[in-house]
Amino acid sequence: MGKPVTKRNTLILSLLISLFICQFSLSFAAEGGRITDIRFWQSPEEAQVVLDISETPRVSPVSQLKDGTLYFDIENCIFRPGRQRYPLQNPFLEVLTVQQMSEGKVRVFFRAPIGVEAKTFVLPVTASKGDRIVIFLKEPQAQLIKRRNAELNEVNRLKAENVKIVVLDPGHGGEDPGTRNNGIIEKNYVMTMGKLIKAYFDRDPRFKAVLTRDGDYIIPLERRREIAEHLGADAFLSLHVNYNSRKAIRGIEVYFESPRGAVGEAERLVAEMENQVDFGGVTTPTNNTQVVKREIVERQAAIMNKSRQLAERVELQLGASVVELPSRGVKRAGFKVLHSMAMPSILVEFGYTSNLADAEVLKNYNARTRMAQAVYLGVRDFLLNPIEEGLDTSYLEFIRTSEANKIAVAKQRAAAQAKKTASKKNAEKYKVKSGDSLSKIAAKNKIPLARLLNFNNISSKHVIKVGDTLLIPPK
Ligand SMILES: [Zn+2]
Repeated sequence: MGKPVTKRNTLILSLLISLFICQFSLSFAAEGGRITDIRFWQSPEEAQVVLDISETPRVSPVSQLKDGTLYFDIENCIFRPGRQRYPLQNPFLEVLTVQQMSEGKVRVFFRAPIGVEAKTFVLPVTASKGDRIVIFLKEPQAQLIKRRNAELNEVNRLKAENVKIVVLDPGHGGEDPGTRNNGIIEKNYVMTMGKLIKAYFDRDPRFKAVLTRDGDYIIPLERRREIAEHLGADAFLSLHVNYNSRKAIRGIEVYFESPRGAVGEAERLVAEMENQVDFGGVTTPTNNTQVVKREIVERQAAIMNKSRQLAERVELQLGASVVELPSRGVKRAGFKVLHSMAMPSILVEFGYTSNLADAEVLKNYNARTRMAQAVYLGVRDFLLNPIEEGLDTSYLEFIRTSEANKIAVAKQRAAAQAKKTASKKNAEKYKVKSGDSLSKIAAKNKIPLARLLNFNNISSKHVIKVGDTLLIPPK
């Protein structure tokens, strides 16, 4: 897949940005917000400029000048006098300019090629990061469609020759580094693993492996799965390393979709459809909802049955690949990247970076190669050999149980309601007299005040008047 940006462009940009940071650091006074770092992330589809600010900034939305230049203002921020211009010559950003407009107000101008959409937002402070302003730039829609179609044509040509498409998804990236422990940064580690695994598939003409990202940038979780679905992938593997505060926990894990995760997704899809679909007044929404949900559940159960077998075959190979790295087996979890109804999907955790022994193995080149080969062998086994057809019975059982529970709960509620109504019918009536209060009435009738309030659907603040009627709950 072609990437419209050369490495050279990125390099020039990072050089310019280093320059930018130095000048910022020199020019800022102690009071007010100060820009402490500027980073740039870029995927083929979008780019982000991230500005770290020492104090929470106020940022205006992006506006446009007559000549097409975009800009936004940072309030409570100081820059030096004059205007600083940084030519970036990038497919997303041609030039970035910073200028102190008035006391405490800095304006950031940028020129983007025609069609590039730009947005800014402020990310709040997190445990590991301070305030950040993000300029988010999106590839023009027409260009995006053109590029995706070219990818699809290539994949369809391969599919016609019975080549299997495997999508490898290195987790995290860019602003999201994943876990960082014992010399391993997850986003980089899984990128290396993704490339190693891809190399095994690329040597085998029966397969075509595609990476969801091939650089250091973040992709939203749904997008990772969409990339694979768009290409009609035969298998999808998300690649991760794990972390646990209990440092003794170690080992490889291979996950596939859990019943709880799947049912959540089914309900989300049904709700989404109800919001969009025009029922045309023919079928009642409730009937339709039931039918739609049943269809979704069936499709999920069929894919899950495949995902389980993919997970088992990959785990079998991985567990035997490195003697020093134990396997914790196949597990289930409701990870967002595993929700696809179109292709078998698994998530591989290559071990715990928080465990010293695991971390040592993970860093070993031979171990990495053996693990990459094991993943390839597991997927190959799954895609080229027969698998069991059928549905994931534990999911169907889960659905049956949770629906039976729902019905039981509804019945209980209805029964409780009926009981309350009946007892109200037979309840004694009490007419409020002069000098009465709610607590006096409760005491007179030998019942707790709370019970009296609840039975009459009133609060303790309720004001009673002489002549009002209250219901007295049966003892
Ligand atoms: Zn991860």
